[in-house]
Amino acid sequence: MKHNFGAGPCILPQEVFKQASEAVINFNDTGLSILEISHRSKEFEAVVAETESLIRDLLSVPQNYSILLLQGGARQQFAMAPMNLLKEGGKSAYLDTGSWASYAIKEAKNFGSVEVVASGKENNYTIIPKDYTIPTDVDYFHYTSNNTIFGTELFDIPNSPVPLVCDMSSDIMSRKIDVSKFGLIYAGAQKNIGPAGLTIVIVNNDLLGKTGRTIPSVFDYQSHINAKSMFNTPPVFSIYVAMLNLRWLRLKGGIEEIERENIVKSRTLYEEIDRNPLFRGPSAVEDRSRMNVTFVMENPELESEFLALAQKRDLVALKGHRSVGGFRASLYNALPISSVHLLVDVMQEFEENHK
Ligand code: PMP
Repeated sequence: MKHNFGAGPCILPQEVFKQASEAVINFNDTGLSILEISHRSKEFEAVVAETESLIRDLLSVPQNYSILLLQGGARQQFAMAPMNLLKEGGKSAYLDTGSWASYAIKEAKNFGSVEVVASGKENNYTIIPKDYTIPTDVDYFHYTSNNTIFGTELFDIPNSPVPLVCDMSSDIMSRKIDVSKFGLIYAGAQKNIGPAGLTIVIVNNDLLGKTGRTIPSVFDYQSHINAKSMFNTPPVFSIYVAMLNLRWLRLKGGIEEIERENIVKSRTLYEEIDRNPLFRGPSAVEDRSRMNVTFVMENPELESEFLALAQKRDLVALKGHRSVGGFRASLYNALPISSVHLLVDVMQEFEENHK
């Protein structure tokens, strides 16, 4: 068995892979594949309803928030958020904590003026800026809760005088959050929710319909709300697998239990990075991500040798993002603690080999 530390698409529970594969042949004893049923069939309507209700229960989403199951990825939301929330001629504020945040900023500039309240860029995004003020004359404040590439995470929800918009692509469902503090949350599904192809949007209904701009209907949250996520053909299979994965999460004890496990997994790995003289973690200790653990070698010439050893021990997808180098171990919900222990063993074996 391989231990998959990939950053996304990523590991999902083995039982989810099995159930999904069975539904490809015979979905719910219908004699049909999940791949061939109509998205308007009553069987699939039940899948959409259950997926939505699992998200609502797991995250305690208040009733005045809509949950949308869309396509287009988080990157489409970089544009949809300003289209739907930024008033014509209005202003927004963004926190720049990494590559994804800066792409979101670039996109928002197509729709109005953007104030970047702080940026971690000059520190190569190893620290999340904390000393900033959110202006009161903006339509919303946007931040990225987990920086997948750089391995930093923002745990405390900023105190904001304006609606909060958050890209939670890489840490949604990994820890408890108070949804009522947000105006809009979005996430590509391909980390803790399910396979690629699905994008989750959670939006406070009261914020919509106020921009004064014409929004193309496919980019208008209201179209998708009115059509109960069936404005266009939804990503049927991705939604089905997400439902299976969220059932798995609920069965194992929900967000509270998974957060406990995620704390233990990330602590185990960071302790080894800090102890082992060959390795070093570039991110500021207080901002270390629980989802994407980045680390480098004191002697970068040894990196390819370490990767080869890891590969030999069936630890895969550990190579760091090209803009950071070194390694990135993504510890998403479905990655078992035993995989983390094995990685720690291999780091210790490597240390022994280089004494
Ligand atoms: N935001 C974050 C935090 C991400 O990690 C990613 C992708 N890994 C994206 C946005 C882009 O997502 P997508 O590819 O679904 O558009």
